[in-house]
Amino acid sequence: MSDENCIFCKIVNDEIPSKIVFENSTTIAFLDIHPISEGHTIVIPKNHYKTLENLPDNEINTLFQTVRDVASLIYKRLQVGGYNIVQNNHEAAGQVVNHAHIHIIPRNKGDQRFKAKIPKSQASEEELNNVLEKLKS
Ligand code: AMP
Ligand code: ZN
Repeated sequence: MSDENCIFCKIVNDEIPSKIVFENSTTIAFLDIHPISEGHTIVIPKNHYKTLENLPDNEINTLFQTVRDVASLIYKRLQVGGYNIVQNNHEAAGQVVNHAHIHIIPRNKGDQRFKAKIPKSQASEEELNNVLEKLKS
């Protein structure tokens, strides 16, 4: 499953160069060409799926195994303070490349380029109940 216009499929098919960190039969991890921090890595399934919802169960499993293994490699070898896992789905959430992918973003205390802070504005009981009803009905 490949899309001839997709930049990440071109990486999978070795049609354009990339800096591959890890590869197995179903996944590939390569360095982001616009790194937020040193070692910023993209992990993808080799098959072309647009977003997370399209991924079949077995591919989710192997994809997240690769994310875990590469994150562990980055954490140990680059001796960073931590890392964020970011996964943008659809344009509204900032997805630019339409081939499902996961960012591993190495972090150090006090670094300023990437902010993963969740803003704290408490919802009312009614707001929480309203959304719960939409999700569960
Ligand atoms: P997004 O779709 O916003 O989640 O992010 C796509 C990411 O892919 C960006 O961080 C780009 O820098 C990265 N990217 C795009 N083209 C390439 C490429 N040819 N090789 C490596 N990374 C890429
Ligand atoms: Zn693709």
